[in-house]
Amino acid sequence: MRQPLVMGNWKLNGTKASVEALIKGLVDPAANASNVTVAVCPPAVFLDQVERLTQGTAIKFGSQDADIHENGAFTGENSPVTLKEFGCTYALVGHSERRTLHAESDQVIAEKYAAVQKGGLLPVLCIGETLEQFEAGQTNQVVETQLKAVIDRNGVESLADAVIAYEPVWAIGTGKTATPEIAQNVHAHIRNYLKGFNAEIAAKVQILYGGSVKGANAKGLFGMEDIDGALVGGASLQADEFASIIEGAK
Ligand code: PEP
Repeated sequence: MRQPLVMGNWKLNGTKASVEALIKGLVDPAANASNVTVAVCPPAVFLDQVERLTQGTAIKFGSQDADIHENGAFTGENSPVTLKEFGCTYALVGHSERRTLHAESDQVIAEKYAAVQKGGLLPVLCIGETLEQFEAGQTNQVVETQLKAVIDRNGVESLADAVIAYEPVWAIGTGKTATPEIAQNVHAHIRNYLKGFNAEIAAKVQILYGGSVKGANAKGLFGMEDIDGALVGGASLQADEFASIIEGAK
């Protein structure tokens, strides 16, 4: 039985005041959803504040990225070791905005994945196809290639302590959600692909859907057999909307 996970990706948003209000607004919804893991990924600069505000609550948190290195001359980066020290449980790896805007290749992402695990964090490996690839019918092939890079570098066993987030790029921040059926087909394909490497890990790994998830469409997605929760961008910035997604996962 896979426990649902609902994770918010705040991206580059927030102020000290809004972070406080948002976390306070999520304390009860997270406490009232004992069968759902609730987590948020704030910008790194808010991690200390989030660590303090979430103490004694059911809310977990993670980073939106991590560097490959533990320390050194890497201006602007965050070490997985530091992120762990600040209380992170998770680290997003390979979000489509990192792949596109920061030109992160599958190989760089596989290295980040390794660094995050070495630092004691659970990687949330984001994969997904562009609109062009979707329209060309290449979705399954794209997610296989993205997964294979991580498996080649880290072994399939590394997925025993990780989460996968399937996020079609055309659905991120666009208001266009994949239908539950489209998403389920890709999730089932991912699980089946992993089964070829290790059936036990394939059955256990949490696969989240991401792409314009909101309260109104969450339940339909969560009703699908291979969808184990959501990675939520825009809708995670409003406590009520995020709470209704958590409610849908109960
Ligand atoms: C995301 O950034 O991971 C995401 C899914 O964003 P949104 O929910 O806004 O589409």
